[in-house]
Amino acid sequence: MPLGLLKYGLSSKYPARRHFPPAKDLKRSYDVVIIGGGGHGLAAAYYLARDYGITNVAVLDKGYLAGGNTARNTAIIRSNYLTPEGVRFYEESMRLYRELSEEFSYNILYSVRGHFTLAHTDAAMRTSRWRAEVNKHLGVDSELIYPDDIRKLCPSMNLSDDVRYPILGALYHPPGAIARHDAVAWGYAAGAARRGVEIHQMTEVTGILTENGRVKGVETNRGTIHCNKVLQAVAGSSSLVGKMAGLRLPIRTIPLQACVSVPLKPFLDQIVVSGSLHVYVSQSSRGELVMGGSTDPYALYSTRSTLDFKESLLGHMLELFPFLGEVSVLRQWAGMTDMTPDFSPVMGLTPIENYYIDSGWGTWGFKATPICGRTMADTVATGVAPKLIEPFRLSRFDEFAQVGEKGAASVGH
Ligand SMILES: Cc1cc2nc3c(=O)[nH]c(=O)nc-3n(C[C@H](O)[C@H](O)[C@H](O)COP(=O)(O)OP(=O)(O)OC[C@H]3O[C@@H](n4cnc5c(N)ncnc54)[C@H](O)[C@@H]3O)c2cc1C
Repeated sequence: MPLGLLKYGLSSKYPARRHFPPAKDLKRSYDVVIIGGGGHGLAAAYYLARDYGITNVAVLDKGYLAGGNTARNTAIIRSNYLTPEGVRFYEESMRLYRELSEEFSYNILYSVRGHFTLAHTDAAMRTSRWRAEVNKHLGVDSELIYPDDIRKLCPSMNLSDDVRYPILGALYHPPGAIARHDAVAWGYAAGAARRGVEIHQMTEVTGILTENGRVKGVETNRGTIHCNKVLQAVAGSSSLVGKMAGLRLPIRTIPLQACVSVPLKPFLDQIVVSGSLHVYVSQSSRGELVMGGSTDPYALYSTRSTLDFKESLLGHMLELFPFLGEVSVLRQWAGMTDMTPDFSPVMGLTPIENYYIDSGWGTWGFKATPICGRTMADTVATGVAPKLIEPFRLSRFDEFAQVGEKGAASVGH
């Protein structure tokens, strides 16, 4: 348990703590400008300040703090990917996640649940076995299990043969977890702000200033800001902001929807994902079922919700948990996800000097927040991308060196 929390719990008074220092005026120049005040941008700011002493930094967000995909995701954290590049990267992120509550002295509600990726076909069983082997080889706890094992771990799941897609087995990843997404962003924001980083909400970047192939600053709705370095971390808007800098990114932006049920008594410990049924679900600490599925079938810049999505998702949910037939949906929402052709992110240097990118986070970037912050801070501070993110460089698309991450399909966040 974080020491700060323990002290707070045992104290006789509970004074309200101001979470962030009051906002400052926007200056005309900074050493570093970070575009995007989501988890990734804030984490990068935090590690820039903590590890490199770089604090003359402005994080600019066109909306409110972490109001983009950070506030909309379903908070699944896991590292049982398929490529060695992906597994190493997400495993390091999980290691950092486990330390975050302690590090922030602020509870991010990190909750280890165990993660099932259900297999309904022979092909899915083969892929699960393959993934389990890659995972184990890299030290990640992951194995293929069969219906009897699933029944013991998750007795409420319908394992009968009398359904459209009977369950043949599952890739089981015991460390799979969830956390409170807002708390992650607030923890990073507070830590960065306490070290001197400025966070400016309602500040939209409308242009990128370059000279002789080098970034010089940004245009915003509040005026021009000069700076030496820029990091773009704007999931869902990566192509739009990249275009301002003259970059053409291999990204399509597609809506991803999710919903929650009314709160129920706890019955589901695990996170359950089914690619064949296009559904995933976990139960939050409040008792709500947090549910989602595949991305919408078309590219679009919009965060509207649709009845189609809800109908098909809930039909599939009932195949797994038929007793939920009378349960109501409480809320539905959507985010915009930047999908890359190989389901891996795009991180690191760009052809523009001192302009760095953290993008292509599709449906899987929440779990990467701490490691993205660490590695992007390193890249911005040193001008060199660390080895861990080198495979995700933008230039891989010119070099035919894609990292085909089949462990990150649009359902398996
Ligand atoms: C429904 C849904 C479910 C998901 N579930 C999971 C999951 O279970 N697990 C997982 O790992 N990932 C999941 N994801 C993906 C995850 O949410 C994202 O990959 C991650 O949050 C990206 O974080 P970020 O900080 O890069 O982006 P964001 O939080 O979106 O932050 C980007 C910020 O940039 C700002 N911005 C954009 N344009 C500009 C501009 N021109 N000027 C200034 N600011 C700008 C936006 O306002 C926004 O606040 C899910 C996504 C969605 C939509």
